[in-house]
Amino acid sequence: MEIIRSIAEMREFSRNCTKYGRSLGFVPTMGALHAGHISLIERSCRDNDVTVISIFVNPRQFMQSEDFDQYPRDEAGDLEKAEAAGVDAVFLPEVDEIYGRECLTSVYVASLSETLCGISRGTGHFRWVCTIVCKLFNIVQPGTAYFGQKDAQQALIIGRMVEDLNIPVEVMLCPTARDTSGLALSSRNVRLTPKQREAATCLYQALCEARRALRKGEKASMILIELMTEIIEKQPGAEIDYLQIVAPGTLQEVEWVDDLVLIAGAIRVGEVRLIDNLIVHPEHGPWSELPEEEQH
Ligand code: AMP
Repeated sequence: MEIIRSIAEMREFSRNCTKYGRSLGFVPTMGALHAGHISLIERSCRDNDVTVISIFVNPRQFMQSEDFDQYPRDEAGDLEKAEAAGVDAVFLPEVDEIYGRECLTSVYVASLSETLCGISRGTGHFRWVCTIVCKLFNIVQPGTAYFGQKDAQQALIIGRMVEDLNIPVEVMLCPTARDTSGLALSSRNVRLTPKQREAATCLYQALCEARRALRKGEKASMILIELMTEIIEKQPGAEIDYLQIVAPGTLQEVEWVDDLVLIAGAIRVGEVRLIDNLIVHPEHGPWSELPEEEQH
């Protein structure tokens, strides 16, 4: 496995792939790799001749008072896991390599960046997520890039950016990996105590309850959100940031669920902010045809 720290070397690697007609799959990450990242890497390895991942904790997407300094970092462990998963090259640039020259340009996907996490984290968050992903796409030049449904809003925004700016990269959305309790895997979970980790499962339980009620015929978003709120409020140590039911294309709230929806939530457990979501159709469609345990 190659470890690449400069943009020039990364471009050279990518050029060589293209020259020999190899397909290049790309998984952008912020490191502290866990089984969720590995599931994206494995998908890329299955679909492509060559898989590149990036590990870059993007300082700009952390808004003031957010957890940039506390964000977990484990370069040695990450490299081991990446190699074991079959990664061909890791792009591991320093902050200066990416932002050394003052960056006057940013990419902003309007409207979609202004709901859900865009409200709690500030619209600057997705501006800098899109900007870094756009920079990474231009540096790595993959054919396909893999994103997790856990960060559904991020994946939908990036999909829209790619369409709007005609970026020649296919964006693939991959299922959320969970632990046995249902908790969505996240690099931030390492900052939870065992008790907090248990408390954090209430978000997934709440999402499942909304899905169950929806399938039984409860289509009023207000009622579904009340059901979720009740579950989370019962859990000591968990605090709701937001719970919303939105249309996946626009991320605008729906009052009445009669089509595919994204049921999304964010909670705080101690100092840690956690997000999760389910994509659900009230009656039919690819998601509801799968047995419940395969819909994660
Ligand atoms: P991050 O390192 O948190 O920026 O995540 C890098 C990529 O991994 C993003 O596309 C995330 O959506 C994805 N990811 C993170 N957690 C999970 C998970 N539990 N299941 C699937 N994908 C995930």
